[in-house]
Amino acid sequence: MSRIAIIGAGPIGLEAALLATQLGHDVQVFEKGRVAENILDWGHVRLFSPFEMNSSEWGRGALTKVLGPDALPHEDVLTGSEFAERYLIPLSRLPELADRINENCHVLSISRQHFRKTEGIGSKTRGAEPFRLLIEQNSTRRSVVDDSLDDASDDDERSSPPNSVRQVQARHEVFKYRVDERVQLADVVLDCSGTYPHHNWLGDGGLPCIGERDSLTENHYRLPVIRETEFGGRIVLVIGSGFSAATSVVALAELAKQHPRTKVLWLANSQPEKGIAAGPLTFIPNDPLIERDRLTAKANDLAVVGHISRASLTETSSHPVVWFSDVAVVSITRTKTFREFDGFEVELDWSRSHQLRTDGQNPFPPSVTVDRIVANVGYRPDRSIYEELHVHECYGTQGPIKLAAKLLGETSSDCLSQTTHGAEVLKNPEPNFFVLGSKSYGRNSNFLLRVGIEQVREVLASLNH
Ligand SMILES: Cc1cc2nc3c(=O)[nH]c(=O)nc-3n(C[C@H](O)[C@H](O)[C@H](O)COP(=O)(O)OP(=O)(O)OC[C@H]3O[C@@H](n4cnc5c(N)ncnc54)[C@H](O)[C@@H]3O)c2cc1C
Repeated sequence: MSRIAIIGAGPIGLEAALLATQLGHDVQVFEKGRVAENILDWGHVRLFSPFEMNSSEWGRGALTKVLGPDALPHEDVLTGSEFAERYLIPLSRLPELADRINENCHVLSISRQHFRKTEGIGSKTRGAEPFRLLIEQNSTRRSVVDDSLDDASDDDERSSPPNSVRQVQARHEVFKYRVDERVQLADVVLDCSGTYPHHNWLGDGGLPCIGERDSLTENHYRLPVIRETEFGGRIVLVIGSGFSAATSVVALAELAKQHPRTKVLWLANSQPEKGIAAGPLTFIPNDPLIERDRLTAKANDLAVVGHISRASLTETSSHPVVWFSDVAVVSITRTKTFREFDGFEVELDWSRSHQLRTDGQNPFPPSVTVDRIVANVGYRPDRSIYEELHVHECYGTQGPIKLAAKLLGETSSDCLSQTTHGAEVLKNPEPNFFVLGSKSYGRNSNFLLRVGIEQVREVLASLNH
């Protein structure tokens, strides 16, 4: 039996926790928010893959055993919220997992006991020591203004362990700063902390464009609920060439049916070696994932009809989407629009666009003024938590190298054609530290839950041998 620490109570962390418990391990899950935090954040979006593909047989079996055969969702394709409420949250409440899921516990960093990063490289003695996880729990921070360091009115704080309360006197102000931290030891660590919502940047080459860090907040990179109050009748700039951006564009086009003044400017690359007529999204012939097929068709259709080169035609004047293909953002400046809402002035670089005239002149606008920005430009792993460990990463994707090398060898554009590659490719130079789930793919966005569930099975089987 091993002490297994699991970081993240998303779908893969929960599946791992349940199977590891069933195999007799001593499991603790640390979740910085609530169970299924990230999925609930985009809960309004419908998953592409059917429920059976997104859940394990051990998860479905355990729920059926405890709650009866009607406990499982009967619909095939659920929204993120439905998936969380009808499968993931019930999983987390199974008796096997009682007292094993620690919500509001943020894993800040992981190390090997007694070994610094530079010590014991490749040695058996390093691998024999447990992991140490530094965890911030239910952190509450507050500051009070007081003349005295000795605040007798707060009995709670007086009875706390002395190292959990730090008092700092600055001039005449006393700041009480409470962080409840603790260290957890473990023999095995499964990092299932995902990539969402650690976003990429929208500027050329993946850098922040000028003004981006100042003008946009974390919310601009999420998948927004397209509410009439927020987006109706507005000019919205959507940036991104993948399914998340397509989801936002299609939802905005729907809203435009009720609010015809809603206009979407969609900055998305065209597909390599395909013309504008193919649209930005790769079409998968006979796609078995019906929702994905529908979204691809709708988004490409909206883009092609509304391509910028057709913007002056009268038949497209009422079309809700204008597709700016292969255009980069140079800068973003916050501004006030005439509607008195905060808007943005966005400067564009057309040098890669195929729409330039043969004389090199650009007939299109060098900048646009918009009311809203939705930057669905992808997500990346937060590697800071394993900085003290030995993890060999791929320089292209930032996923662990052995798996990344296998994935780079895959040529199909359909993530559904992927298989897993066994526990061996999930091993790191740091023994018994595994990155699983969407984080194992790093910046590669092809991850599917089906693959993560298989990873869990393979890694836990390898521990038991
Ligand atoms: C909009 C969208 C639609 C998708 N649709 C599909 C689909 O149809 N089919 C499919 O197979 N895949 C889909 N995916 C991809 C993928 O399956 C999901 O992203 C899925 O949520 C990944 O599961 P996970 O458990 O690896 O990570 P997550 O669900 O991201 O869970 C990670 C958890 O770790 C927690 N956490 C993070 N850092 C820490 C820390 N330091 N300490 C403690 N806890 C931490 C987070 O709060 C979170 O709860 C979709 C992704 C997105 C964004």
